[in-house]
Amino acid sequence: MASHHIIQVAVPRPLHSVYDYHVDDATEIPLVGARLRVPFGRSEVIGICVSTAVDAPHENTKAILEILDAEPVIDEELLELARWMSGYYHYPLGEVLATILPSAARKGAAFDIKPPPPPDLWHLVDPSAVSPRAKTQLALVQHLQEAAAAVTGTELESAGFNRPMLRKLENLGVLERQAEATAPTLDAPLNPTPEQAQAIDAVTQAKEFTPFLLEGVTGSGKTEVYLQIMAPVLAQAQQVLVLVPEIALTPQTLARFENRFAGVGVMHSALTDQQRLQTWLRCRSGDIRVLIGTRSAVFTPFNDLGLIIVDEEHDSSYKQQEGLRYSARDLTVKRAQTANIPLLLGSATPSLESLYNVQRQRYRHLTITQRAGGALMPRFDVIDLRGQRLRGGFSDTLIRIIRQHLAEAGQVLIYLNRRGFAPTLLCQHCGWQCVCSDCDAKLTLHRRPEQMVCHHCSLRFALPERCEHCGHEDLIPVGVGTQRAEETLVELFPGVPLYRIDRDTTRTTTQLNAQLEQIHRGRPCIMVGTQMLAKGHHFPQVTLVAVVNADAGFLSPDFRAPERTAQLIVQVAGRAGRAERPGEVWIQSYQPDNPLLKRLLSQGYGSFAEAELASRLQAGLPPGQPMAMLRAEAFEPQLALEFLQRCKSHLQKHADHLGEETASAAQIMGPIPAPMARVAKRTRFQLVVIAVSRPQLHRLLASIGQPKTHASLRWSIDVDPYDAM
Ligand code: ADP
Ligand code: ZN
Ligand code: ZN
Repeated sequence: MASHHIIQVAVPRPLHSVYDYHVDDATEIPLVGARLRVPFGRSEVIGICVSTAVDAPHENTKAILEILDAEPVIDEELLELARWMSGYYHYPLGEVLATILPSAARKGAAFDIKPPPPPDLWHLVDPSAVSPRAKTQLALVQHLQEAAAAVTGTELESAGFNRPMLRKLENLGVLERQAEATAPTLDAPLNPTPEQAQAIDAVTQAKEFTPFLLEGVTGSGKTEVYLQIMAPVLAQAQQVLVLVPEIALTPQTLARFENRFAGVGVMHSALTDQQRLQTWLRCRSGDIRVLIGTRSAVFTPFNDLGLIIVDEEHDSSYKQQEGLRYSARDLTVKRAQTANIPLLLGSATPSLESLYNVQRQRYRHLTITQRAGGALMPRFDVIDLRGQRLRGGFSDTLIRIIRQHLAEAGQVLIYLNRRGFAPTLLCQHCGWQCVCSDCDAKLTLHRRPEQMVCHHCSLRFALPERCEHCGHEDLIPVGVGTQRAEETLVELFPGVPLYRIDRDTTRTTTQLNAQLEQIHRGRPCIMVGTQMLAKGHHFPQVTLVAVVNADAGFLSPDFRAPERTAQLIVQVAGRAGRAERPGEVWIQSYQPDNPLLKRLLSQGYGSFAEAELASRLQAGLPPGQPMAMLRAEAFEPQLALEFLQRCKSHLQKHADHLGEETASAAQIMGPIPAPMARVAKRTRFQLVVIAVSRPQLHRLLASIGQPKTHASLRWSIDVDPYDAM
């Protein structure tokens, strides 16, 4: 036994997740960071070797089964990041590593870069081998003769010539593939405005770890700043990581980077497992110079990373809301620190977390107050809904304003926070509302096809014919979703092109892009949609933005709701008047005097955020004091509740012990039912921990360890939760 070499392996399993194994053949000790196949319980798993320097000889270790990699797949930097995350998010190391690895690699795929596919550009070499009776082949020859230049396989395919035939003619020497056209000509940088120039200089001069917050109003040319700070980094043969929100990876955004630099790669959820792995590897080899990606791209290894940019840093999509609940934005800070490189967080509506870091002089603040290219900021007005009769959610005032903008050949953008037809189906006699069988949620009425849909568990139901409570048949849809708004607008403005953009109409990016292409032609039209419309898009012809109802967000009990609502309003509004024509923003509200709304509209986001941050700090809420949330759910409500009650008494004891004589180290609140207490038949409770400092928070959370729980109980720790209710 003593001759066995013991190693440590992180396996993708909860509980301890790091286990000792031994290697039978001491000449074959794996490298740290390599994948191994190991026995685990009664099955086998793929784990990562995290240490080979375990000296205490161990009894009862199992032998590893196979070393999958001669070279580490997780390099030193990623392993350190994983260890750090495991500590910060209180999540097992093996599962952190499994989250970091592309799923193809996790399942054991070979870790090598595949050669690029052969070029797909075809030209004619020698038509003589084509038989005079092969009509389609002759047609192809004619097609290529007429085209004069080489034609892509995709184009030939859509002209009715299939690929097997192309390959056959290639073998006969009739056709040849041609290398892709030479590198595209790249766009030249724009002449920066003085404010842009200042930001560009500041970042370019920073050589070491320096986090910057670029606060630039919508349309201020932040992207141009990104491009110009990237150029010198790329000229030094270093790489750049650009994170963008899930929604922003439109061809438009991508094209702006691709038209400026060669070697741009992308990473997002629509890629296949194999594509993700290839992109990962090509970043690691240095082949990809610029990686533009969504949340999980933060885990990509680089050969020589020189700069990280996070666009729309306030965006909620950077926070993973299940499993390992990490914030990709926060992880970029850690990565930039380790690599000792500058980091730029950009937004028109920065998060209060980042503004707080500016206040504490952890981040340097760069601002752009003017729109680029001479466009003016839009004008804001509120429409008082009190006492008004509405048509499908629209006041007469708003209808008149829409008509006027269309008549002046403007495009109109209408924002709503609900998809579907109506958020509620209500009995007019007794007030009963149609609810989900498995959740506490009201069902949303959808049309085409007509059904009741639960937006929480996705169950679908037939429309009830009568009230389940009193039996009356007078059920009426209440409230307005995007489908109803669409229907109303079609009636009001017949003949005007209307594009509904929400998750139901844009299941694929192709669908979304087809709609965006029509809109970009610039003819007068109406767009109605959810927050998908609010983010990142550039609609030069939009002169009117309307927010159908701004109230819900300011009334929610979640302490982050006002911040989120303000960001959303400013971002939607930012789609207006981005070109020569000035824009107007109209907001319908039943509470036009709400102080938060008034402050936002009269003094702008900066002033709103300052006041909101002050009130958070005063209330002892994040970002002033760090928060974590423990969630538990079970089919049997009592199980979840009792689990959190036990956690609470344990935490409270520790907090009192850790704290000063007079004050505890943390405030522990709850457990209370989650805002949507029952989802998919499980009942959910939550416990909030607010600690006096980050180290104290971590000490407390670490003290929970791995409590014994019932098999049917699910529980999790969420550090820096985004949804605080
Ligand atoms: P943001 O990302 O801040 O919302 P964009 O980068 O989309 O803004 O820029 C808005 C518009 O202004 C774009 O059409 C862009 O090409 C243009 N623009 C940016 N910088 C300049 C500049 N220095 N001179 C002229 N136009 C500019
Ligand atoms: Zn009823
Ligand atoms: Zn449901």
